[in-house]
Amino acid sequence: MSERRKIGIMGGTFDPIHNGHLLAADEAHAALGLSEVIFVPTGQPPHKANQKVTSAEERYIMAEMATANCPYFTVSRIEIDRAGESYTIDTLRTLHSMPEYKDVLFYFITGLDAVLNIMTWKNPEEIIQMCSFVAVSRYGYSHNRVELLPQDLRDKIIPLEIPLLAISSTELRERIRTGRSIKFMVPAAVEQFIMKKSLYKH
Ligand code: NAP
Repeated sequence: MSERRKIGIMGGTFDPIHNGHLLAADEAHAALGLSEVIFVPTGQPPHKANQKVTSAEERYIMAEMATANCPYFTVSRIEIDRAGESYTIDTLRTLHSMPEYKDVLFYFITGLDAVLNIMTWKNPEEIIQMCSFVAVSRYGYSHNRVELLPQDLRDKIIPLEIPLLAISSTELRERIRTGRSIKFMVPAAVEQFIMKKSLYKH
């Protein structure tokens, strides 16, 4: 019997996408034998309603630029083109219903902090049935809080520590705002796009 195809869904606001995200997706690809990693930038993140977020289109363009030279990375407009707030449950339902993803095992790759909050997302029980989770953390981050999650969710969480991942989108925005360099933290094309569009200056 042939093994089921495994596909990663890299979910994030990606404001902006950085080398840590790319490294995490590549590590997950290798560690789990994923055939593809689909980057899914959020359209309207429901948990960031009170926060200034760069336009979905600009975050999508940066994701395309960042992943362009990797054959097994793709970027989906699924959340950007869907009206209203971006709920992961809707994304998973759509992907599961697509004929090209029939019989696929999905791995939702995102930050550990986000995974720890899944029980507050829309329809968490259904989400847990639809995929496994790759919880990406930075070096030295404690996974203790995972033990507080329900057992059926814990059983589906694969921790992925990225030792070199000290970069965060928050830190990048702060560096740009205060005039510091982001060179080598994001792909060159993304850095050029941020400068050209004067993103994150204020
Ligand atoms: P966030 O709260 O901005 O990020 C939490 C932490 O995870 C940050 O340290 C972040 O670092 C990191 N992170 C985020 N995405 C990552 C990724 N793909 N790989 C590695 N680290 C990542 O989370 P978010 O980016 O807005 O949302 C994460 C995912 O959860 C999205 O797909 C979102 O749609 C989903 N979500 C769904 C619901 C819902 O359905 N109700 C609610 C909340 C979140 P950086 O800032 O450096 O990225």
